[in-house]
Amino acid sequence: MTPPITPLPCLRDNYAYLIEAPASVALVVDPSEAEPVLQALARRSLRLGAILATHHHLDHVGGIPGLLLAFPGTPVLALAPDDALIHGVTRTVQHDEIVPLAGLSVRCLAIPGHTLGAVAYLVSDGSPPGALFTGDTLFGAGCGRLFEGQPADLHRSLNLTLGSLDGSTPVYCGHEYTEANLRFARAAEPGNDAIPRRQGSVEKLRLQNIPTVPFLLSEERATNPFLRCGEREVRGFVGAGADDEEVEVFRRLRAAKDRWR
Ligand SMILES: [Zn+2]
Repeated sequence: MTPPITPLPCLRDNYAYLIEAPASVALVVDPSEAEPVLQALARRSLRLGAILATHHHLDHVGGIPGLLLAFPGTPVLALAPDDALIHGVTRTVQHDEIVPLAGLSVRCLAIPGHTLGAVAYLVSDGSPPGALFTGDTLFGAGCGRLFEGQPADLHRSLNLTLGSLDGSTPVYCGHEYTEANLRFARAAEPGNDAIPRRQGSVEKLRLQNIPTVPFLLSEERATNPFLRCGEREVRGFVGAGADDEEVEVFRRLRAAKDRWR
């Protein structure tokens, strides 16, 4: 089962997430700002139980000092080496560690690439699949830029580490980029009918200003070109030859997305 989760729009296109735990406690993921989180907690009469930071970028952790002023002593989780760059970290988690928090279970998965200490959190109330928080590593129909890691790191994080999870897992990512990402996905794989179908449903949501999160991992596997680097059309899009390995296709695809407008 999945605990109740509310996306909290922050800054321009960021999402922080409020996860309701038992006993009027909430966990928050990636608070770029404190105020929207404090307001959401007050509206629901919830106490802050822990802060989960997916990586060190300020548009994910900038609200931590303000939250700690309001709720001193709140545990803050992060992965090394990003932990050293995040205010107030109390708990440096390990890859595949399960941390019990406020009656919920938080599985931590190291997913380097966007940053070296990027981490995904799989949060559940005990039964599978749980909800997956991917920060800036896996987006709807896309992935984050390679700021610190190598293409092989991000490819492995997306395709093996997150790739090992069940397709029914709902994904909550760090930014509302899905609509733009799907335009690139369509260019990379024009023969994939699942992409225009997803574009149709995403456009409807965005016209009403509804978040495109959560989406299922299985939807990503069907439409996200960064999870489909073995596909003939994607290989052709980046001009890969028969001898080019999937990681090379991934590297070229990420570079093409960096240049895409
Ligand atoms: Zn980032």
